[in-house]
Amino acid sequence: MINVTKTYLPPIEEYISCLHKIWESGWVTNHGAMVQKLETELAEFLDVRHVQFVSNGTIALQIAIKALELKGEIITTPFSYVATVGTILWENCEPVFTDIEKKTFCIDADKIESVITKRTSAILATHVYGYPCDVDKIGGIAKKHNLKVIYDGAHAFGVKINNQSIFNFGDISTVSFHATKLFHTIEGGAVITQSGDLNKKISLFKSFGHIGEEYLSTGINGKNSEFHAAMGLCNLPYVASIIKKRKELSERYDTILSGVNLKFPEKPKNILYNFAYYPVIFEDENTLMRIKDILAENKIFTRRYFFPSLNKLPYLKNYQRCETAEDIASRVLCLPLYPQLTLEEADMIGRLIKHSM
Ligand SMILES: *Cc1c(COP(=O)(O)O)cnc(C)c1O
Repeated sequence: MINVTKTYLPPIEEYISCLHKIWESGWVTNHGAMVQKLETELAEFLDVRHVQFVSNGTIALQIAIKALELKGEIITTPFSYVATVGTILWENCEPVFTDIEKKTFCIDADKIESVITKRTSAILATHVYGYPCDVDKIGGIAKKHNLKVIYDGAHAFGVKINNQSIFNFGDISTVSFHATKLFHTIEGGAVITQSGDLNKKISLFKSFGHIGEEYLSTGINGKNSEFHAAMGLCNLPYVASIIKKRKELSERYDTILSGVNLKFPEKPKNILYNFAYYPVIFEDENTLMRIKDILAENKIFTRRYFFPSLNKLPYLKNYQRCETAEDIASRVLCLPLYPQLTLEEADMIGRLIKHSM
């Protein structure tokens, strides 16, 4: 069986050696040595100023919204994982959808200004599949209209644009370290900012809003444990080789699928990409379903990611049309991509698709 993804696990002895350290210290959570070390190593690896390790990528988004004190309307993308819009609703804000670009599937920055109202407080956009949003244009719009910007960087670990970490754009970037993501801590995530003041607020909010016996604000429990941090510390040295393997596999798919009636997102220029996903766009939804079923019959499991387009979620109050996102969501399929996949398996999957079209 080949799944769309498979969790990378480091050599078990390396994790066990971290477990021994945890047992020696007796300290299992609440900003312990492993969490502190992971935050420091991540800041260095990603080339960012402040990293707060939290329990998952969704709590990271919630804390970001709280830290920026967002109210009213938040402009967001319909093409993301449900957690992006889910968080906006959970924090009692209203999502206003802007359609996506046809090339990167990220929010179309040219369409943002027309939906700004007096009630707009922020833009929350996703770097889809690790492709950066148009951060310059979005930054300019935010400045002009005095809006905050949060980037959901769940897919964008290690991505750079003009040699600069993608997480250094916007007021806050969030990332997920879930077991299905490129770099993981089993469950986990981070809130990243360049602002020292925001970082303090985020740190306070993730630990119930108090420091020792000083109760400073409301907060939530967004902390993560020593066991999760240890998994991150063990995985981090392997990230470069994980990305390298993903690149090789993606290039193998590229070769086999060239000439097949499929479309692909276009990688923006000047980026260092992480090969987080391998999405293909079929001619129409029927073809997608047919190929998906053929692959499943061969025990190859793909994922309609993202589907549905978030503007069509059944529990939203009103329907806001997003033509491109709805179209792409109906035709996109992510193929298996993970470092343990072999080039032969990628060949076989590619050929199966090619011969079934
Ligand atoms: C995975 C993901 C999240 C949620 O992260 P969790 O760590 O699973 O809570 C949010 N946004 C996007 C785009 C994701 O892919």
